[in-house]
Amino acid sequence: MSQKQLTRILPSASTHWVGDGFPVRTLVSIARDAVQASPFLMLDYAGPHRFAPSDAPRGVGMHPHRGFETVTIVYQGEVAHRDTAGNSGVIGPGDVQWMTAGAGVLHEEFHSQAFTARGGVLEMAQLWVNLPARDKRRAPAYQAVVSGQIPAIVLDGGSGGVRVIAGDYAGVQGPALTRTAMNVWDLTLHADRSTAFVLPDGWTAMLVVLRGAIEVGGRRIDALQTAHFSRSGTTIDILAQADSQALLLSGAPLDEAIAHYGPFVMNTRQELLEAVAAFERGDFQTPAV
Ligand code: MN
Repeated sequence: MSQKQLTRILPSASTHWVGDGFPVRTLVSIARDAVQASPFLMLDYAGPHRFAPSDAPRGVGMHPHRGFETVTIVYQGEVAHRDTAGNSGVIGPGDVQWMTAGAGVLHEEFHSQAFTARGGVLEMAQLWVNLPARDKRRAPAYQAVVSGQIPAIVLDGGSGGVRVIAGDYAGVQGPALTRTAMNVWDLTLHADRSTAFVLPDGWTAMLVVLRGAIEVGGRRIDALQTAHFSRSGTTIDILAQADSQALLLSGAPLDEAIAHYGPFVMNTRQELLEAVAAFERGDFQTPAV
């Protein structure tokens, strides 16, 4: 089997607050990375951050999305979601929300009321997954994937584990339904252990290191860095240099034009103008069909 070659190691592109609830670092950036990262668009990581107890809701109020999917993965704390397609839910450590914005939805993202009241450490990631042109106008959808539904595979040799959120690992299927072929693997890796990950030839692959440090091909990828790999090749051999948490994201590239403006990701500038007009008309207030 041939190696997927490590092509770039990129630092976080920006650090900013999303609303008053999510101090994020952008580890995969639409502006910088979306073409190479396809079908993935963006990954924001709200690194471990301690919040004091409060009565005031923290987060970001109703805002629109169209043309892609938001995937929220919680490691610590609790996040509450509510949208105009009628979906809502609270997710905690290990849980995932997979929201398909499709034709358009408004949603709010806050810390849960209980977590806000007691305070504590929040740690989560939000991944944006592009939709192919044929699916950008589909009805919004929402998948609540709780931790117990996510297969947790123990790696050989005490190397750690893989949680299969989407796609498959060694024939074990993840629960999230995706519109195009991809794997979203949540890795917990133990120091000084190595693992060979096998992926389809021709797929995009990125290793996003959230905590710890991981070596690939003699190069060290530190926490808050993302390694991009060649699409050709089938194997990535990694060595954890410390106890690490990472996301290994892989998928069939869409190879379609990307037009992005704020919370809208379409194929053309004209479609972005339509999205803005639809939002301003209030089209996203009611469930799209
Ligand atoms: Mn959002």
